Amino acid sequence: TQQKKMSLTGRVILGMVLGILSGFLIRSLFSETGFVYDYIVNGLFEVGGAIFIASLKMLVVPLVFVSLVCGTSTLKDISTLGRLGGKTLAFYLTTTAIAITLALVMGNLFQPGAGADLSAATTFAAKEAPSLGQVIIGMFPTNPISAMANGNTLQIIVFALLFGVAISTAGKAGERVAAIFADLNEVIMKLVTLLMNIAPFGVYFLMAKLFSGLGLDAIFNLLGYFLVLSGTLLLHGMLVYGSLFKIFTGLSPILFLKKMEDAIMFAFSTASSNATIPVTMETATTRMGVKNRIASFTVPLGATINMDGTAIMQGVATAFIAQAFNIDLSMSDYLAVIMTATLASIGTAGVPGVGLIMLAMVLNQVGLPVEGIALIMGVDRLLDMIRTAVNITGDSCVTCIVANSEGALDRERFNDPHAGEQEE
Ligand code: ASP
Repeated sequence: TQQKKMSLTGRVILGMVLGILSGFLIRSLFSETGFVYDYIVNGLFEVGGAIFIASLKMLVVPLVFVSLVCGTSTLKDISTLGRLGGKTLAFYLTTTAIAITLALVMGNLFQPGAGADLSAATTFAAKEAPSLGQVIIGMFPTNPISAMANGNTLQIIVFALLFGVAISTAGKAGERVAAIFADLNEVIMKLVTLLMNIAPFGVYFLMAKLFSGLGLDAIFNLLGYFLVLSGTLLLHGMLVYGSLFKIFTGLSPILFLKKMEDAIMFAFSTASSNATIPVTMETATTRMGVKNRIASFTVPLGATINMDGTAIMQGVATAFIAQAFNIDLSMSDYLAVIMTATLASIGTAGVPGVGLIMLAMVLNQVGLPVEGIALIMGVDRLLDMIRTAVNITGDSCVTCIVANSEGALDRERFNDPHAGEQEE
């Protein structure tokens, strides 16, 4: 194996490490107003990183639409769809509720906000949390083209499901259209692999730009919050998913986490579950052996409604802010936090920084000062990266569990540690 070229994963890791190092080096050697920042950090790094993110996002809408139409058009009967949807939702909601509960327990156990410094007060406007009714109405597209143009994943999912079902029941015409979508799907997956090859550079640019502007002193001031939150994220990511995975599939959770490596790195460097959809999908299907008909539904759905890492942030942050402002929360407040955070996570898409907006809703709901967000904003970017990695690990874990229960997980492929690895 020594003669083989480095795997894509290896190159992405290298890009990430070099990017972080370059960022730190630049930050300690050059002043933020000089030539290096003007031309390299805000020039080369920014442009390179932006192109990388754009190329990932570019794939999301066509990929979600085509692969989901493909997936549903091969369903034998419609009742499968209902069962699949029910199971997936149940798992997504349960894992999110576990996540927030765990976060609230950890936040109260370690009390990261006790005696915090409250000097940073700026205003942060909170939006109303959406009601369940609004969330459900919002899922139904009035215009599929506008849903795609706006990248509204839930609406695209609903349209694709209906379209796929129509194909599967439309006889000869349906068969012809299904064949076109099957071909399209193959071509788009090819495009995904093609674009994944620029990832090592993209990740390098993103990391170098981020770390050359990242003041770590903010983290030291909020070390308690940072540690409790990232500890809870790790605990959930490894222990909760690991056990659920083991219990429901009987397969190795270690191998599962190992196979997540590419997707985790993409999520970490883009801080967006949405932009990571192509890689999560590729990981679930080619590396883990989940059939496309399951992954094409559960992965985009998860990226939109299942954000356990974000929910954990909201739990810990709520506890932190309550402690910092010396406000006692009652049991019913905690329940309200769980409800609001779960609903908010359904109604908001997985893009960078959206967790803070949702947090504002949660704080509002239990009457905590929204200005509390200013306390934690300074360290949010790095935490956003970590929780996005947890978010998509949750999506993939549920994807495998659901696929396994539907007989759509190729266990042999899953157990092959090198299945679907890219080497070029
Ligand atoms: N960036 C996260 C995601 O895309 C959402 C958040 O917590 O801000 O999953």
